[in-house]
Amino acid sequence: MNETPKKENIPLDPDKLYAALEEKIKNSGHPMDLGRIRAAYEMAKLAHAGQLRKDGCSPYVTHCVAAADISVDLGLDEDSICAALLHDVIEDTPLTHADIAHQFGAPVADIVEGVTKLTRVQYTSKEDEQMENLRKMLMAMAKDIRVILIKIADRLHNMRTMDYQTPEKQRTKSLETMEIYAPIAHRLGMQQAKWELEDLSLRYLDPTGYREITEALNARMPELEAFMSSVEEKIQTRLKSEGIKASIFSRIKHVYSIYRKMYAQKLDINGIFDLCAFRVIVDSLPDCYNVLGVIHDMFKPVPGRFKDYISTPKPNMYQSLHTTVIGTEGIPFEVQIRTWEMHHTAEYGIAAHWKYKMDGSSSVVRDGDEEKFAWVRRLLEDQQESDAQDFFHDLKIDMFADEVFVFSPKGDVINLPAGATPIDFAYSIHSDVGNHMVGAKVNGRIVTFDYVLQNGDIVEIRTSKSSPGPSRDWLSIVKSGSARTKIKQWYKKERREENVLRGLEMLEDELKHNELSLEDVQGEEIMTPVLKRLSYATPEDMYAAIGYGGVTAARVANRLRDEQKSAMAEKKSVLDRVSAAAERREERAKKEGKAVHGILVEGLDNCLVKFSRCCTPVPGDEIIGFITRGQGVSIHRKDCENYLRRTRDQVDAGRWIHVSWASQITDSYVTILTIAAKDRSGLVMDIATVLNSLNAKVRNLSARDNAGLALVNISLEVRSTAELRQIMNRLASVPSVTEVSRSGK
Ligand code: MN
Repeated sequence: MNETPKKENIPLDPDKLYAALEEKIKNSGHPMDLGRIRAAYEMAKLAHAGQLRKDGCSPYVTHCVAAADISVDLGLDEDSICAALLHDVIEDTPLTHADIAHQFGAPVADIVEGVTKLTRVQYTSKEDEQMENLRKMLMAMAKDIRVILIKIADRLHNMRTMDYQTPEKQRTKSLETMEIYAPIAHRLGMQQAKWELEDLSLRYLDPTGYREITEALNARMPELEAFMSSVEEKIQTRLKSEGIKASIFSRIKHVYSIYRKMYAQKLDINGIFDLCAFRVIVDSLPDCYNVLGVIHDMFKPVPGRFKDYISTPKPNMYQSLHTTVIGTEGIPFEVQIRTWEMHHTAEYGIAAHWKYKMDGSSSVVRDGDEEKFAWVRRLLEDQQESDAQDFFHDLKIDMFADEVFVFSPKGDVINLPAGATPIDFAYSIHSDVGNHMVGAKVNGRIVTFDYVLQNGDIVEIRTSKSSPGPSRDWLSIVKSGSARTKIKQWYKKERREENVLRGLEMLEDELKHNELSLEDVQGEEIMTPVLKRLSYATPEDMYAAIGYGGVTAARVANRLRDEQKSAMAEKKSVLDRVSAAAERREERAKKEGKAVHGILVEGLDNCLVKFSRCCTPVPGDEIIGFITRGQGVSIHRKDCENYLRRTRDQVDAGRWIHVSWASQITDSYVTILTIAAKDRSGLVMDIATVLNSLNAKVRNLSARDNAGLALVNISLEVRSTAELRQIMNRLASVPSVTEVSRSGK
């Protein structure tokens, strides 16, 4: 396990290494089929033949043996050791999953394939969230936890032999190890592996810092060792006298933990006192607490440093009592107290428990979905900590059933719903990528747009500026809501003109079924309420929506039809009301005779007056009277054409008489308006609607068409010129009206 390649580059002998591995397996106490393991070694050796390690001389297979060796240390099973020996053959040699499955069975082949997938993961340093994603993804990808354990063994050996890599590779691999593999080892409770991975990474990430600490530790080693053995002895003696059987170990803390402390507390190494840690391992749980009492009796505990991870285990199943005390020399040190079983879990984590179960049956991981991690669940059962649940969640890959994790070519992790396609991937990168997508590659091979992405796939999207944009079919292919929304948005925006035309066409078709044309429904009184009801700002928006499928043409057509029907009914009732009112007034006028009040005729009291038909004066108009033969006084406006013409007639000059309006006017007076307009459909309707809205008392309304020019005559009753002006102004604003005038002028 600890073979370190020599700087002088002496080639390692794989057969010798393998022989040592076999010895280790024999001594591990776990019966295994050595013939099968040797066959795996032979297969790997043959497959990697001619391939060298980065030291430039050792056969590549030495790395495979080393990974298998670490796997044995981790307590992995026979299948894992075969898989560790073969872990690089799918990636680096012509051998396939089928080849391995044929000779060693599907489980071994599956593990190797899993490791291969993890190996293909490219990686760039990213923010924490991305890292967490990546960790989750690695967990999820490894359908079998042994995949990750072997990957850690592989990484550990690669880190141990990193000296032969280029400085750049050393850095990126170390960063990756520090940010991904060490945390995974920690999560799985593999402290030993975690420490080694961290220290090896630090060596390349901050060589100066690393050297500073190791050199300082070496310089103080005699002093530290003397201190450790004296403390060990003191504790052991005392425990013996208390009748407690215990094994005591001491160690210097690992480099990276000292490094972190130095930086966190801004100290140099001489400022850090608790460089040593002690571990007391006992047989039973009650002994743990007994030992704690003894330690606290012997040394002064540092307040706030006691932690009981036995009653509240860490999420990674770690159990132990921790305390920091101050020795007689005034040097603080940490003591961890635990049982042997807890110790195994602390050192090897998941692997330890698995080794545990291994003795009985060899199929912990293959027991079917429910049983797969039942043992983990049992361990976690009594824990109330929420992050214990998180850990379980991470472990139990079935929980990821609704998610798939894939990679961009740059190594970004993209999390998509299960069943997602390259289209979902493209839109999750950016709408522009999706909208200009013309093709996709997965793991370097061209795939169809409906390819279902698998965990760990590396997805590459081909885009083109001249892409015609997303196809409508994509809407039924994509899995993520956001991709669907973005595709619809594109249709909404990018293809507006096309959508408007398309929508208009579809609507016209639909209207035809209802025996309507677009013209029938384009009036404001129909369109406005429909737009409001369907929430569109303009008719074009609505047509566009029909075009891109935001609303069906049938729905819009039905609304328009309904609105058109009720508008027609409304107009008919306006006309009916206007003409009914006119008739009533005509009759009343007949009954009342021609006598009209409100006119004062000079010198004549209460005489008969009538209003001329030519100029129809109303109160407010300047007026003049004409004494008729036998019909009383006829009232004209002073600007009446007839009056102006006839005043020049000397014969009748004496018959003009001064008249004026009474100060109190209670009646209304009939007058006539003429409207000139460009003829259009609905003109008369619109005029009638205006009159109705002003409550004008219309006696008669007639229209005639003269070569595209419409002339509308309205006879109506008003009380004053002011009222009349208001009506005329409103009529003038009716679309296509060019002039509103009073007759007689
Ligand atoms: Mn490898």
